[in-house]
Amino acid sequence: MTQAGISAAPNGAAKESAKDASASVVAQQAAMLKALPFSDTGDFDDASRGFLGTLEHARITSPQGRVVWSLEPYGFLSDEKAPATVNPSLWRQSRLNMNHGLFEVVPGIYQVRGLDIANMTLIEADMGVIVVDTLTSIEGARAAMELYFQHRGKRPVAAVIFTHTHTDHWGGARGVLDDETLASGKVPIIAPNLFMEHAVSENIIAGPAMQRRAQYQFGPFLAKGPRGQVDCGLGKSMAAGAVKLLRPTDLIMATGDKRSIDGLEFEFQMAPNSEAPAEMHFFVPRYKLLNLAENCTHNFHNLLPFRGADVRDALAWSKYLNEALQMWGGKADTMCGQHHWPVWGAERIDKMIRQQRDLYKFAHDQTIRLMNHGLTATEIAEAIKLPASLEGAWHGRGYYGHIRHNVKAIYQKYLGWYDANPVNLDPLPPVEGGKKYVEYMGGADAILARAAKDFAKGEFRFVAQAVSHLVFAEPDNQAARVLLADTFEQLGYAAESATWRNAYLFGAQELRQGMPKAPPRPPMPRETLAALRTGQLNWSFTDTNESFVLTLENCALTYVEGAQAPNADASFALARARLDEVVAKQTSFPEAVASGKIKFTGDAMRLAELMALMDEFPRMFEIVEPKRTAVS
Ligand SMILES: [Zn+2]
Repeated sequence: MTQAGISAAPNGAAKESAKDASASVVAQQAAMLKALPFSDTGDFDDASRGFLGTLEHARITSPQGRVVWSLEPYGFLSDEKAPATVNPSLWRQSRLNMNHGLFEVVPGIYQVRGLDIANMTLIEADMGVIVVDTLTSIEGARAAMELYFQHRGKRPVAAVIFTHTHTDHWGGARGVLDDETLASGKVPIIAPNLFMEHAVSENIIAGPAMQRRAQYQFGPFLAKGPRGQVDCGLGKSMAAGAVKLLRPTDLIMATGDKRSIDGLEFEFQMAPNSEAPAEMHFFVPRYKLLNLAENCTHNFHNLLPFRGADVRDALAWSKYLNEALQMWGGKADTMCGQHHWPVWGAERIDKMIRQQRDLYKFAHDQTIRLMNHGLTATEIAEAIKLPASLEGAWHGRGYYGHIRHNVKAIYQKYLGWYDANPVNLDPLPPVEGGKKYVEYMGGADAILARAAKDFAKGEFRFVAQAVSHLVFAEPDNQAARVLLADTFEQLGYAAESATWRNAYLFGAQELRQGMPKAPPRPPMPRETLAALRTGQLNWSFTDTNESFVLTLENCALTYVEGAQAPNADASFALARARLDEVVAKQTSFPEAVASGKIKFTGDAMRLAELMALMDEFPRMFEIVEPKRTAVS
């Protein structure tokens, strides 16, 4: 989810800067300092253990000199004591995520951490090194490999393993395998079954919406600082840089599957539909190393990230952790994941896996119990409380996911968006509803006067709800925007979850400054769907020997593979690569027809009619205020 080309510069709307923490937030932070075991600093020892060396400020640049990663802007985190504007538990995690460089996990196993949101794990085999996950960007992966070679000597890459389908675990593969190695085909790329399908599909269909929503999750356009972005929970932030997906050459199909790679034995466990739709764990007997990918990291992970995703299965997640304990509990001396730092010692490993297992199981079972008592998602989030034994475990804290939104994800998985109260079946949308609320509540001034009093009392959650109605009714009401921004900001300061903080603070920033500017796209003249005539188009791809018939009927487009319609309006014959070029906008359809690269018979204008109906999606759209552009 790179966000190239969008500038954080304000739109020129009235600028309001970040405020101090209110008295009630100061009190909340103090209470948290008392409630959690801050004297337990073992994680700081583990996160720095085995440090071998690093790049200055973890800075990585592209060949063109663009900074794709740097921890320099986070220098403010050197203060041990949290400022009042950051939740002290999140401050602690943010400081832990500042450790960066190459670390020895055990002799023969190394990790590059803090040069990306994710880790690269390097496992030395008989002749070469096995690279587990390749960071987000080619530049990042290249820098990580150089750092490793610098400290361990140059050695060939014996294999690449992708633990799962998220970009921060495979995007940099071309920085690990050079052209020559890749062309030789001698280095296996090992991944869980269905890797390609899920790596491609998860971010494509809902891509434009996810990219915009991800800005609220990760906060890339927030200033970094005690009143801005401090962390993402899993690591510092999204990395920029070049991304390329490499196709695996060897898929792991079943739990118990083994591979011998360059003389080193690996045992695998499948974990589909956990943190990612295709994910796997493994154990390396020679090193007694257990790698649980992204299913056992130092936070309560996300069952539904704010960018939007298929809801994740908490029950399956818990079962995989239990299964890992059955398979390797007591055998593993070292456990590492693909985010955060390792854990050493069989007893501590056992305890952490059991606690993580029970975190997901507890959240799952208690959500089910409460929903079967009739509680709705919002009510469950309010009622649920982790047992003391999990509350005090640092790795169980909700820095990325959070118990209060993870339970809503579990509710959604079983019951969906509808809470069964018909009032929520067909409510007015925010603008229309907002106008009526404002009218019923006695107008803007009456709302603002009451909201200011509640703000002073620290009732931020309700103030946000009430004033949001006013912003949707009167988006140009500056007093309303300022108060809602101030309210979001206090909620952000108090939040323990980095993703909650980013969401609240970015909402505040957009209310104060408007949306970051994306380069405008040229407006496209659009026909309307209603003008669409029924018809059929034949396609045959000359290089892949595939044929399709595309049917337009009832304003819906369907297709049948391996067929051609005898009475189609038009038939096209082309190489599949030509279509890819058109989709990638390297050429246009008319240009390709004119140059003879696409051949057709019949009425080609029918295709032009269809193309004119396709939407260009905006990179930015309003979230905390009404949409300024009508969407039909
Ligand atoms: Zn990840």
